[in-house]
Amino acid sequence: MEQPLKKVVIVGGGFAGINLIKHLCKDSRFLITLVDKNNYHFFPPLLYQVATAFIEPSNISYPFRRLFQEKTNLRFHMGSLQKVNPEQNNIETDTGVVEYDYLVLSMGTESNYFGMERVKANSLPMKSIDDALNLRNHLLLNMEEAVHAEDPKEKEKHLNIVICGGGPTGVELAGMLAELGRNIAAKEYPEIKDLRSHLYLIDAGKALLGPMSQKSQQEATRVLKKLGVHVINNTAVKDYNNDTVYLSDGRTIPTKVLIWASGVTGREVPGLPASVVGRGRRIMVDANNKVQGTQNIFALGDLCLQTTDKNYPGGHPQLAQVAIQQGILLAKNLSRVTDNKPMEPFAYNDKGSMAIISKYKAVGDLPKFFFKGFGAWLVWLFIHIIPLIGFRNKVKLAFSWFWSFVTNDPTLRLIIRPRKEDVQKEYEKFTS
Ligand SMILES: Cc1cc2nc3c(=O)[nH]c(=O)nc-3n(C[C@H](O)[C@H](O)[C@H](O)COP(=O)(O)OP(=O)(O)OC[C@H]3O[C@@H](n4cnc5c(N)ncnc54)[C@H](O)[C@@H]3O)c2cc1C
Repeated sequence: MEQPLKKVVIVGGGFAGINLIKHLCKDSRFLITLVDKNNYHFFPPLLYQVATAFIEPSNISYPFRRLFQEKTNLRFHMGSLQKVNPEQNNIETDTGVVEYDYLVLSMGTESNYFGMERVKANSLPMKSIDDALNLRNHLLLNMEEAVHAEDPKEKEKHLNIVICGGGPTGVELAGMLAELGRNIAAKEYPEIKDLRSHLYLIDAGKALLGPMSQKSQQEATRVLKKLGVHVINNTAVKDYNNDTVYLSDGRTIPTKVLIWASGVTGREVPGLPASVVGRGRRIMVDANNKVQGTQNIFALGDLCLQTTDKNYPGGHPQLAQVAIQQGILLAKNLSRVTDNKPMEPFAYNDKGSMAIISKYKAVGDLPKFFFKGFGAWLVWLFIHIIPLIGFRNKVKLAFSWFWSFVTNDPTLRLIIRPRKEDVQKEYEKFTS
């Protein structure tokens, strides 16, 4: 007799969720439903290029329904997770209830403001396509206002840009904004003298690119300083109010733009017991990514905390490669369980890390060596094109990069503002 299909519900179609789906959909014994609050997958490592008007959002995103075309065992449910009901084997979303046999939670993280409510209310995060577009509009509008401002103090506030967080996102943003100042602002905004001298990169750690090698850290600092960025280490942002950033060493910086690229925390999952929520609000899982104390609920990627990998007793770094590898292994493990075979434990294979600093300059830490400069920059471009979903996206991005880097003149600096009330109305209609 034919067995009924096992219902696998995956909440979050980021790196972990999408790689799980890509591999599990080959097994026709599963009916897979992806639940995501957006109707597209996107590629966070390139968000900063959207925010700085270097590439279009469509270069790094792809609609789930297009991805699922002609796959008979895949369904998409657009909605945001509200609650997990482990006893009933279902989840509640803002657009309805979804039943599961296996539940996989892979909703990633959100920005962590470390309890600073005014920073949360007034700064600009960099976690989603919406954030990146919001930041792009904000930066462009701010430049227009800087042009109009007559009071030098007011002008200064519009010109200063403060980035909090010296990880790859903060470094890449600072480098890109410095290039924007050098190549674009100088040509298009004759009223603005030198945007680069108004860029501040603040980090609480003693070096930029904290988890990378010392050589990468030194190179990033050297290149950014040469580009005119004020790099401030060993200093935390303490408050942001009345257009002023307050630093832990007592300094203040007047600015209309504080970009928050510092710290993340796991997304909340109501319905799970508090005892499974660990450090950084990450969900504690066993070696097979099964949520502690449950039988059929798994957590993957940035959202989970797995301490069983002997090389990472404190948990894995929150990186794309970890999420991808966990997604692929869980697909294999769910098939194994259905074949009555034991699951395999997860062990992270670190392929190295890279960061781009500015045009033609990047750093890379491979397991056995460090490299930098133009060669590293080319490798960075290559490895960021390969994982993009969709051949057309890869070609479009390669062309955009070629055009923008060669001409120094990308043409995406459009201020497009959908009317807030229309967006709100549509959303309320959808979720009611
Ligand atoms: C700006 C930026 C730059 C980065 N650069 C790098 C880099 O260079 N290299 C690197 O290795 N890593 C980088 N990272 C980290 C990397 O993106 C993450 O480690 C990776 O995305 C984690 O994958 P994930 O599948 O766990 O979560 P995500 O990729 O974050 O996916 C989460 C998914 O869940 C969905 N979701 C969230 N909440 C809900 C909800 N309530 N209901 C339904 N769906 C929901 C989201 O829409 C999203 O599709 C960067 C991250 C950011 C933000």
